[in-house]
Amino acid sequence: MKNVLTIAGSDSSGGAGIQADLKTFAAHGVFGMSVITAITAQNTQGVFAVQDVTPEVIAKQIDAIFDDIEVAAVKIGMVSQIDTIKTIAAKLQEYGAKNVVVDPVMVSKSGYHLLNPAAEAALVQELLPLATIVTPNIPEAEVITQGKITTVEEMEAAARSIYALGPKHVLVKGGHLDGDSTDVFFDGEKYTYLKSRRIDTKNTHGTGCTLSAAIAAGLGRGLPVDQAVHAAKEYITIAIEHGLTIGKGVGPTHHFY
Ligand code: PLP
Repeated sequence: MKNVLTIAGSDSSGGAGIQADLKTFAAHGVFGMSVITAITAQNTQGVFAVQDVTPEVIAKQIDAIFDDIEVAAVKIGMVSQIDTIKTIAAKLQEYGAKNVVVDPVMVSKSGYHLLNPAAEAALVQELLPLATIVTPNIPEAEVITQGKITTVEEMEAAARSIYALGPKHVLVKGGHLDGDSTDVFFDGEKYTYLKSRRIDTKNTHGTGCTLSAAIAAGLGRGLPVDQAVHAAKEYITIAIEHGLTIGKGVGPTHHFY
């Protein structure tokens, strides 16, 4: 069994964040571990409160894991604040963490800033150079590149400029554009396109978390990055197709075991 770590925020409703990541890890047959960066009070209708965990306690959680357990891959999700980001970056470098997936979580679908906007530059400077792969959606890619993205060609250009910031691979997710979705994967040399038809559902809470966790699970199991990305895309597509109507708002994706 491979051990895979998520460093992310807790979602009390279980659809996104740490909870989505651990369910995804279990579904992929890897042993899931978690470093909690923030506790959110949220449900299918929104985020109502956030309590950030102190950088000291985040550092202790990372130490506790790496001092004792072999970590095959790491996924980074919600990181909240500049000090949190700096702590995580320093610790991952100290332990030589491998197979690092960075999901640059910024704003929830319900519009809540899960990343302090003042910390956007720190995320780019501190975490992207450590990433085996970074997985921005279009709004996140727009923040990182400071440009508008409305076409696949602009997604390609964004992937190339994000690659220049240090990650080994970039996946720009196209779900925010109209129509069927095309994700653009860039390995520094060539583009690969992952297409899927648009699924008619409102239950998409936690899709980004689930996709990046599935990539980390694949990397942890030893898949090459492109294969981990393709397998994760298949997994998230099925998980969205079987999204769950729980609560009154945007329900979560479904995890199969
Ligand atoms: N809550 C936490 C803790 C998250 O990490 C994320 C996503 O990355 C979300 C909420 C946002 O979920 P969504 O935008 O899919 O509703």
